[in-house]
Amino acid sequence: MAADCLFCKMVSGAIQPNKVYEDNDVLAFRDINPQAPVHVLVIPKRHIATVNDLTDADAALVGKLTLIAKKIAAELGVADSGYRLVSNCNADAGQSVWHIHLHLLGGRGLQWPPG
Ligand code: AMP
Ligand code: ZN
Repeated sequence: MAADCLFCKMVSGAIQPNKVYEDNDVLAFRDINPQAPVHVLVIPKRHIATVNDLTDADAALVGKLTLIAKKIAAELGVADSGYRLVSNCNADAGQSVWHIHLHLLGGRGLQWPPG
């Protein structure tokens, strides 16, 4: 855990997110500033600052994040209509929280390419 990390505080319970999923490794919760009718963040419980910090040892964890996002998409009713999984890395992508997360966005048509 990183003491000054917002998402680590959600993992520890110091801040209570609007949870949609939790297991030993992963937490998922509603984004506080939703950009679509469904906007969920799927995070590892372990602090990893950016996608650049992932190592080969994290392969199973990264795969698990996607598989859980897939399940949440189905539970929230956007599996068939469609959804996007996005992970922003560093400044040009607009990363604003330095603990990796997958954005699950759905419930409306999404533009491509993104801005
Ligand atoms: P990113 O900009 O890709 O790093 O995504 C960070 C996301 O965290 C943004 O979509 C924010 O709206 C979201 N966020 C920031 N603070 C909170 C919070 N307290 N609870 C839920 N989501 C948050
Ligand atoms: Zn963290």
